[in-house]
Amino acid sequence: MTTMVKDAAAGEFHPVSTPDYLPQAQLRALQLGRLKGMVLRAYQHQELFRQRMVQAGLTPDDVESLEDLPRLPFTVKTDLRDTYPFGLFASPMQDVVRLHASSGTTGKPIVVAYTQQDVAVWSSVMVRTLAACGLHAGDIIQNAYGYGLFTGGLGAHYGAEALGATVIPISGGNTDRQIMVMRDFGVTAICCTPSYFLHLLDRASEMGVDVRSLPLRAGVFGAEPWTDELRLHVEQAGGIKAYDIYGLTEIIGPGVGSECRCQDGLHLFEDHFYPEIINPQTGQVLPEGQEGELVLTTLSKQAMPMIRYRTRDITAVLPEPCPCGRTIRRIRRISRRSDDMFIIRGVNVFPSQVEAALLTVEGTLPHYQIILSREKGLDQMEVQVEVTPEVFSDKVRALEELQKKLSRALENALNIRVQVSLVGPRTIQRSEGKAKRVIDRRNQ
Ligand SMILES: [Zn+2]
Repeated sequence: MTTMVKDAAAGEFHPVSTPDYLPQAQLRALQLGRLKGMVLRAYQHQELFRQRMVQAGLTPDDVESLEDLPRLPFTVKTDLRDTYPFGLFASPMQDVVRLHASSGTTGKPIVVAYTQQDVAVWSSVMVRTLAACGLHAGDIIQNAYGYGLFTGGLGAHYGAEALGATVIPISGGNTDRQIMVMRDFGVTAICCTPSYFLHLLDRASEMGVDVRSLPLRAGVFGAEPWTDELRLHVEQAGGIKAYDIYGLTEIIGPGVGSECRCQDGLHLFEDHFYPEIINPQTGQVLPEGQEGELVLTTLSKQAMPMIRYRTRDITAVLPEPCPCGRTIRRIRRISRRSDDMFIIRGVNVFPSQVEAALLTVEGTLPHYQIILSREKGLDQMEVQVEVTPEVFSDKVRALEELQKKLSRALENALNIRVQVSLVGPRTIQRSEGKAKRVIDRRNQ
């Protein structure tokens, strides 16, 4: 309890955050009770889940402890597509108060549903997220996540209101107006993707606005993987603390997990979302501390329970307690999604490896794009990197030097030869949501 007082003194504690500090035994008992209810609900109302349980010779009564969870069947992303639009709903439509959908890059989107209680849980986990990021009543929060079918905008919005903060529902885009609002309204925190904040910083400096001199003190960044190197850059350039948050539409949206002031792993709100780490090849559950694919089970979701949902996100559960005093477990920051991985000449590459390597070399901006092509049957990888205006106006020799340094850094990180092209400031297209890092032209 002393820790709670300490956090309260730091302005971090909010009554809604109480479950963050539950004693372990109490938390496990709560999880087990909720898990049993959830499995029963899915069994009774989700045809697909019931079929798989029957095939495995299981009934909801077989879940007697949390250790029984690995016996249950997985749910995967294609299950949501295959049952489009409402096939996994476990509530009658008159109890569903909200629908969201993820943008489908291929074919149909996935659709998710919320009951009144689901929306309330969602707000509460977003309050806990924002509180963990050091925000409280009195903060002025600029919410630049997109409003609409995407879960980011409304998820952060209701959480920030429930926290008692002032919300500016500006949504994504119109960067000049964002900067004006940030300055004129005395904004203290911003919610957006890290790549959009980076874009905002660049534009502000062009407009002669020094973000470091504004009251802005925190960034709540999510919806795409980003590296510690990028964090360092935006914290320095923006004069803020940059927090990583985690969520996914299939589970609830943002609010599944968040960093705290320690910025060392993300606490999972595991009273609602139970984590397992599996070997992505075998499906075998791995011990705490080991890296693998994160699997989440919703423990309270009414409209659309997800039992053992495979997130495709690669991380590890950190077994050590966090100095902030929260007892809910942490996962390591997700820098790799198995969906983002591409294979080039037999080597597995993640965009985050490229980002980390580029940012170790001075004189480059964290704007980059990876272009994959095929020439005479052989995969080629080109990395286009923006350089700072100072470097760009420099002598050709300086640019050649920089190019060599970058090639070396990338080869060291990836173990393959990569073509590096330096491009002028502001030539790589900016995104107002998730950045498009990889352009794959190999099958064109
Ligand atoms: Zn912590």
